[in-house]
Amino acid sequence: MKDTFKHQGMRQKLVAIVKDKGIKDDKVLTAIGKIPRHLFMDSGFLDHAYQDKAFPIAADQTISQPYTVAFQTELLKIKRSDKILEIGTGSGYQTAVLCELGAEVYSVERQHELYKKTSKFLPKLGYRAKKFVFGDGYIGLENEAPFDGIIVTAGAPFVPKALLGQLKIGGRLVIPVGESVQTMTLIIRKAATDFEQHEFGEFRFVPLLEDRN
Ligand code: SAH
Repeated sequence: MKDTFKHQGMRQKLVAIVKDKGIKDDKVLTAIGKIPRHLFMDSGFLDHAYQDKAFPIAADQTISQPYTVAFQTELLKIKRSDKILEIGTGSGYQTAVLCELGAEVYSVERQHELYKKTSKFLPKLGYRAKKFVFGDGYIGLENEAPFDGIIVTAGAPFVPKALLGQLKIGGRLVIPVGESVQTMTLIIRKAATDFEQHEFGEFRFVPLLEDRN
């Protein structure tokens, strides 16, 4: 599969749409303008790749809407070399955005099919996450903690305690919290036991699942 001028043109329109909806961070917009989203989707959906919409991928999961990816990434305020934990690798599109921003990415996925597919696919595009892990996002990655930022890309019914404990002081957790509809939530660790919470708009994600069925 290729990245053509046509795809590049469609991508610039997508950048304009996402910017119009309120995304201001130039680095995030540049990343969206660069990443060939059509290559992250099943071929049946190629025509939809540059619409600002979520779409089905393997294992009954979805590739998040570009605006949502941009919104969450903007909230993380990533600096180059920041150590970032991503929960929900999925298609790897969000992982690629994090890599474009120069983050050192640790990405966890609970669906084996997606873990296998995406950990092979992303390096082919030149996106090298530090580590792909087949595991459970509720637990996080204790042995690699602490992180400058943690991003959860599935809807969490509650904020997993383990993730709070894996943030550096000053670290930021961006997590959609709720059952059928989620409130985008930013939690900043101000001190060991002091967490500041900010809430943003409502979003809809597939659920962060607690078992492997
Ligand atoms: N960022 C991805 C989003 C995929 S949807 C993308 O844009 O492609 C959410 C992902 O979270 C799915 O791949 C799903 O399998 C994964 N997921 C769900 N519950 C999880 C859990 N407990 N731990 C890790 N990943 C989980």
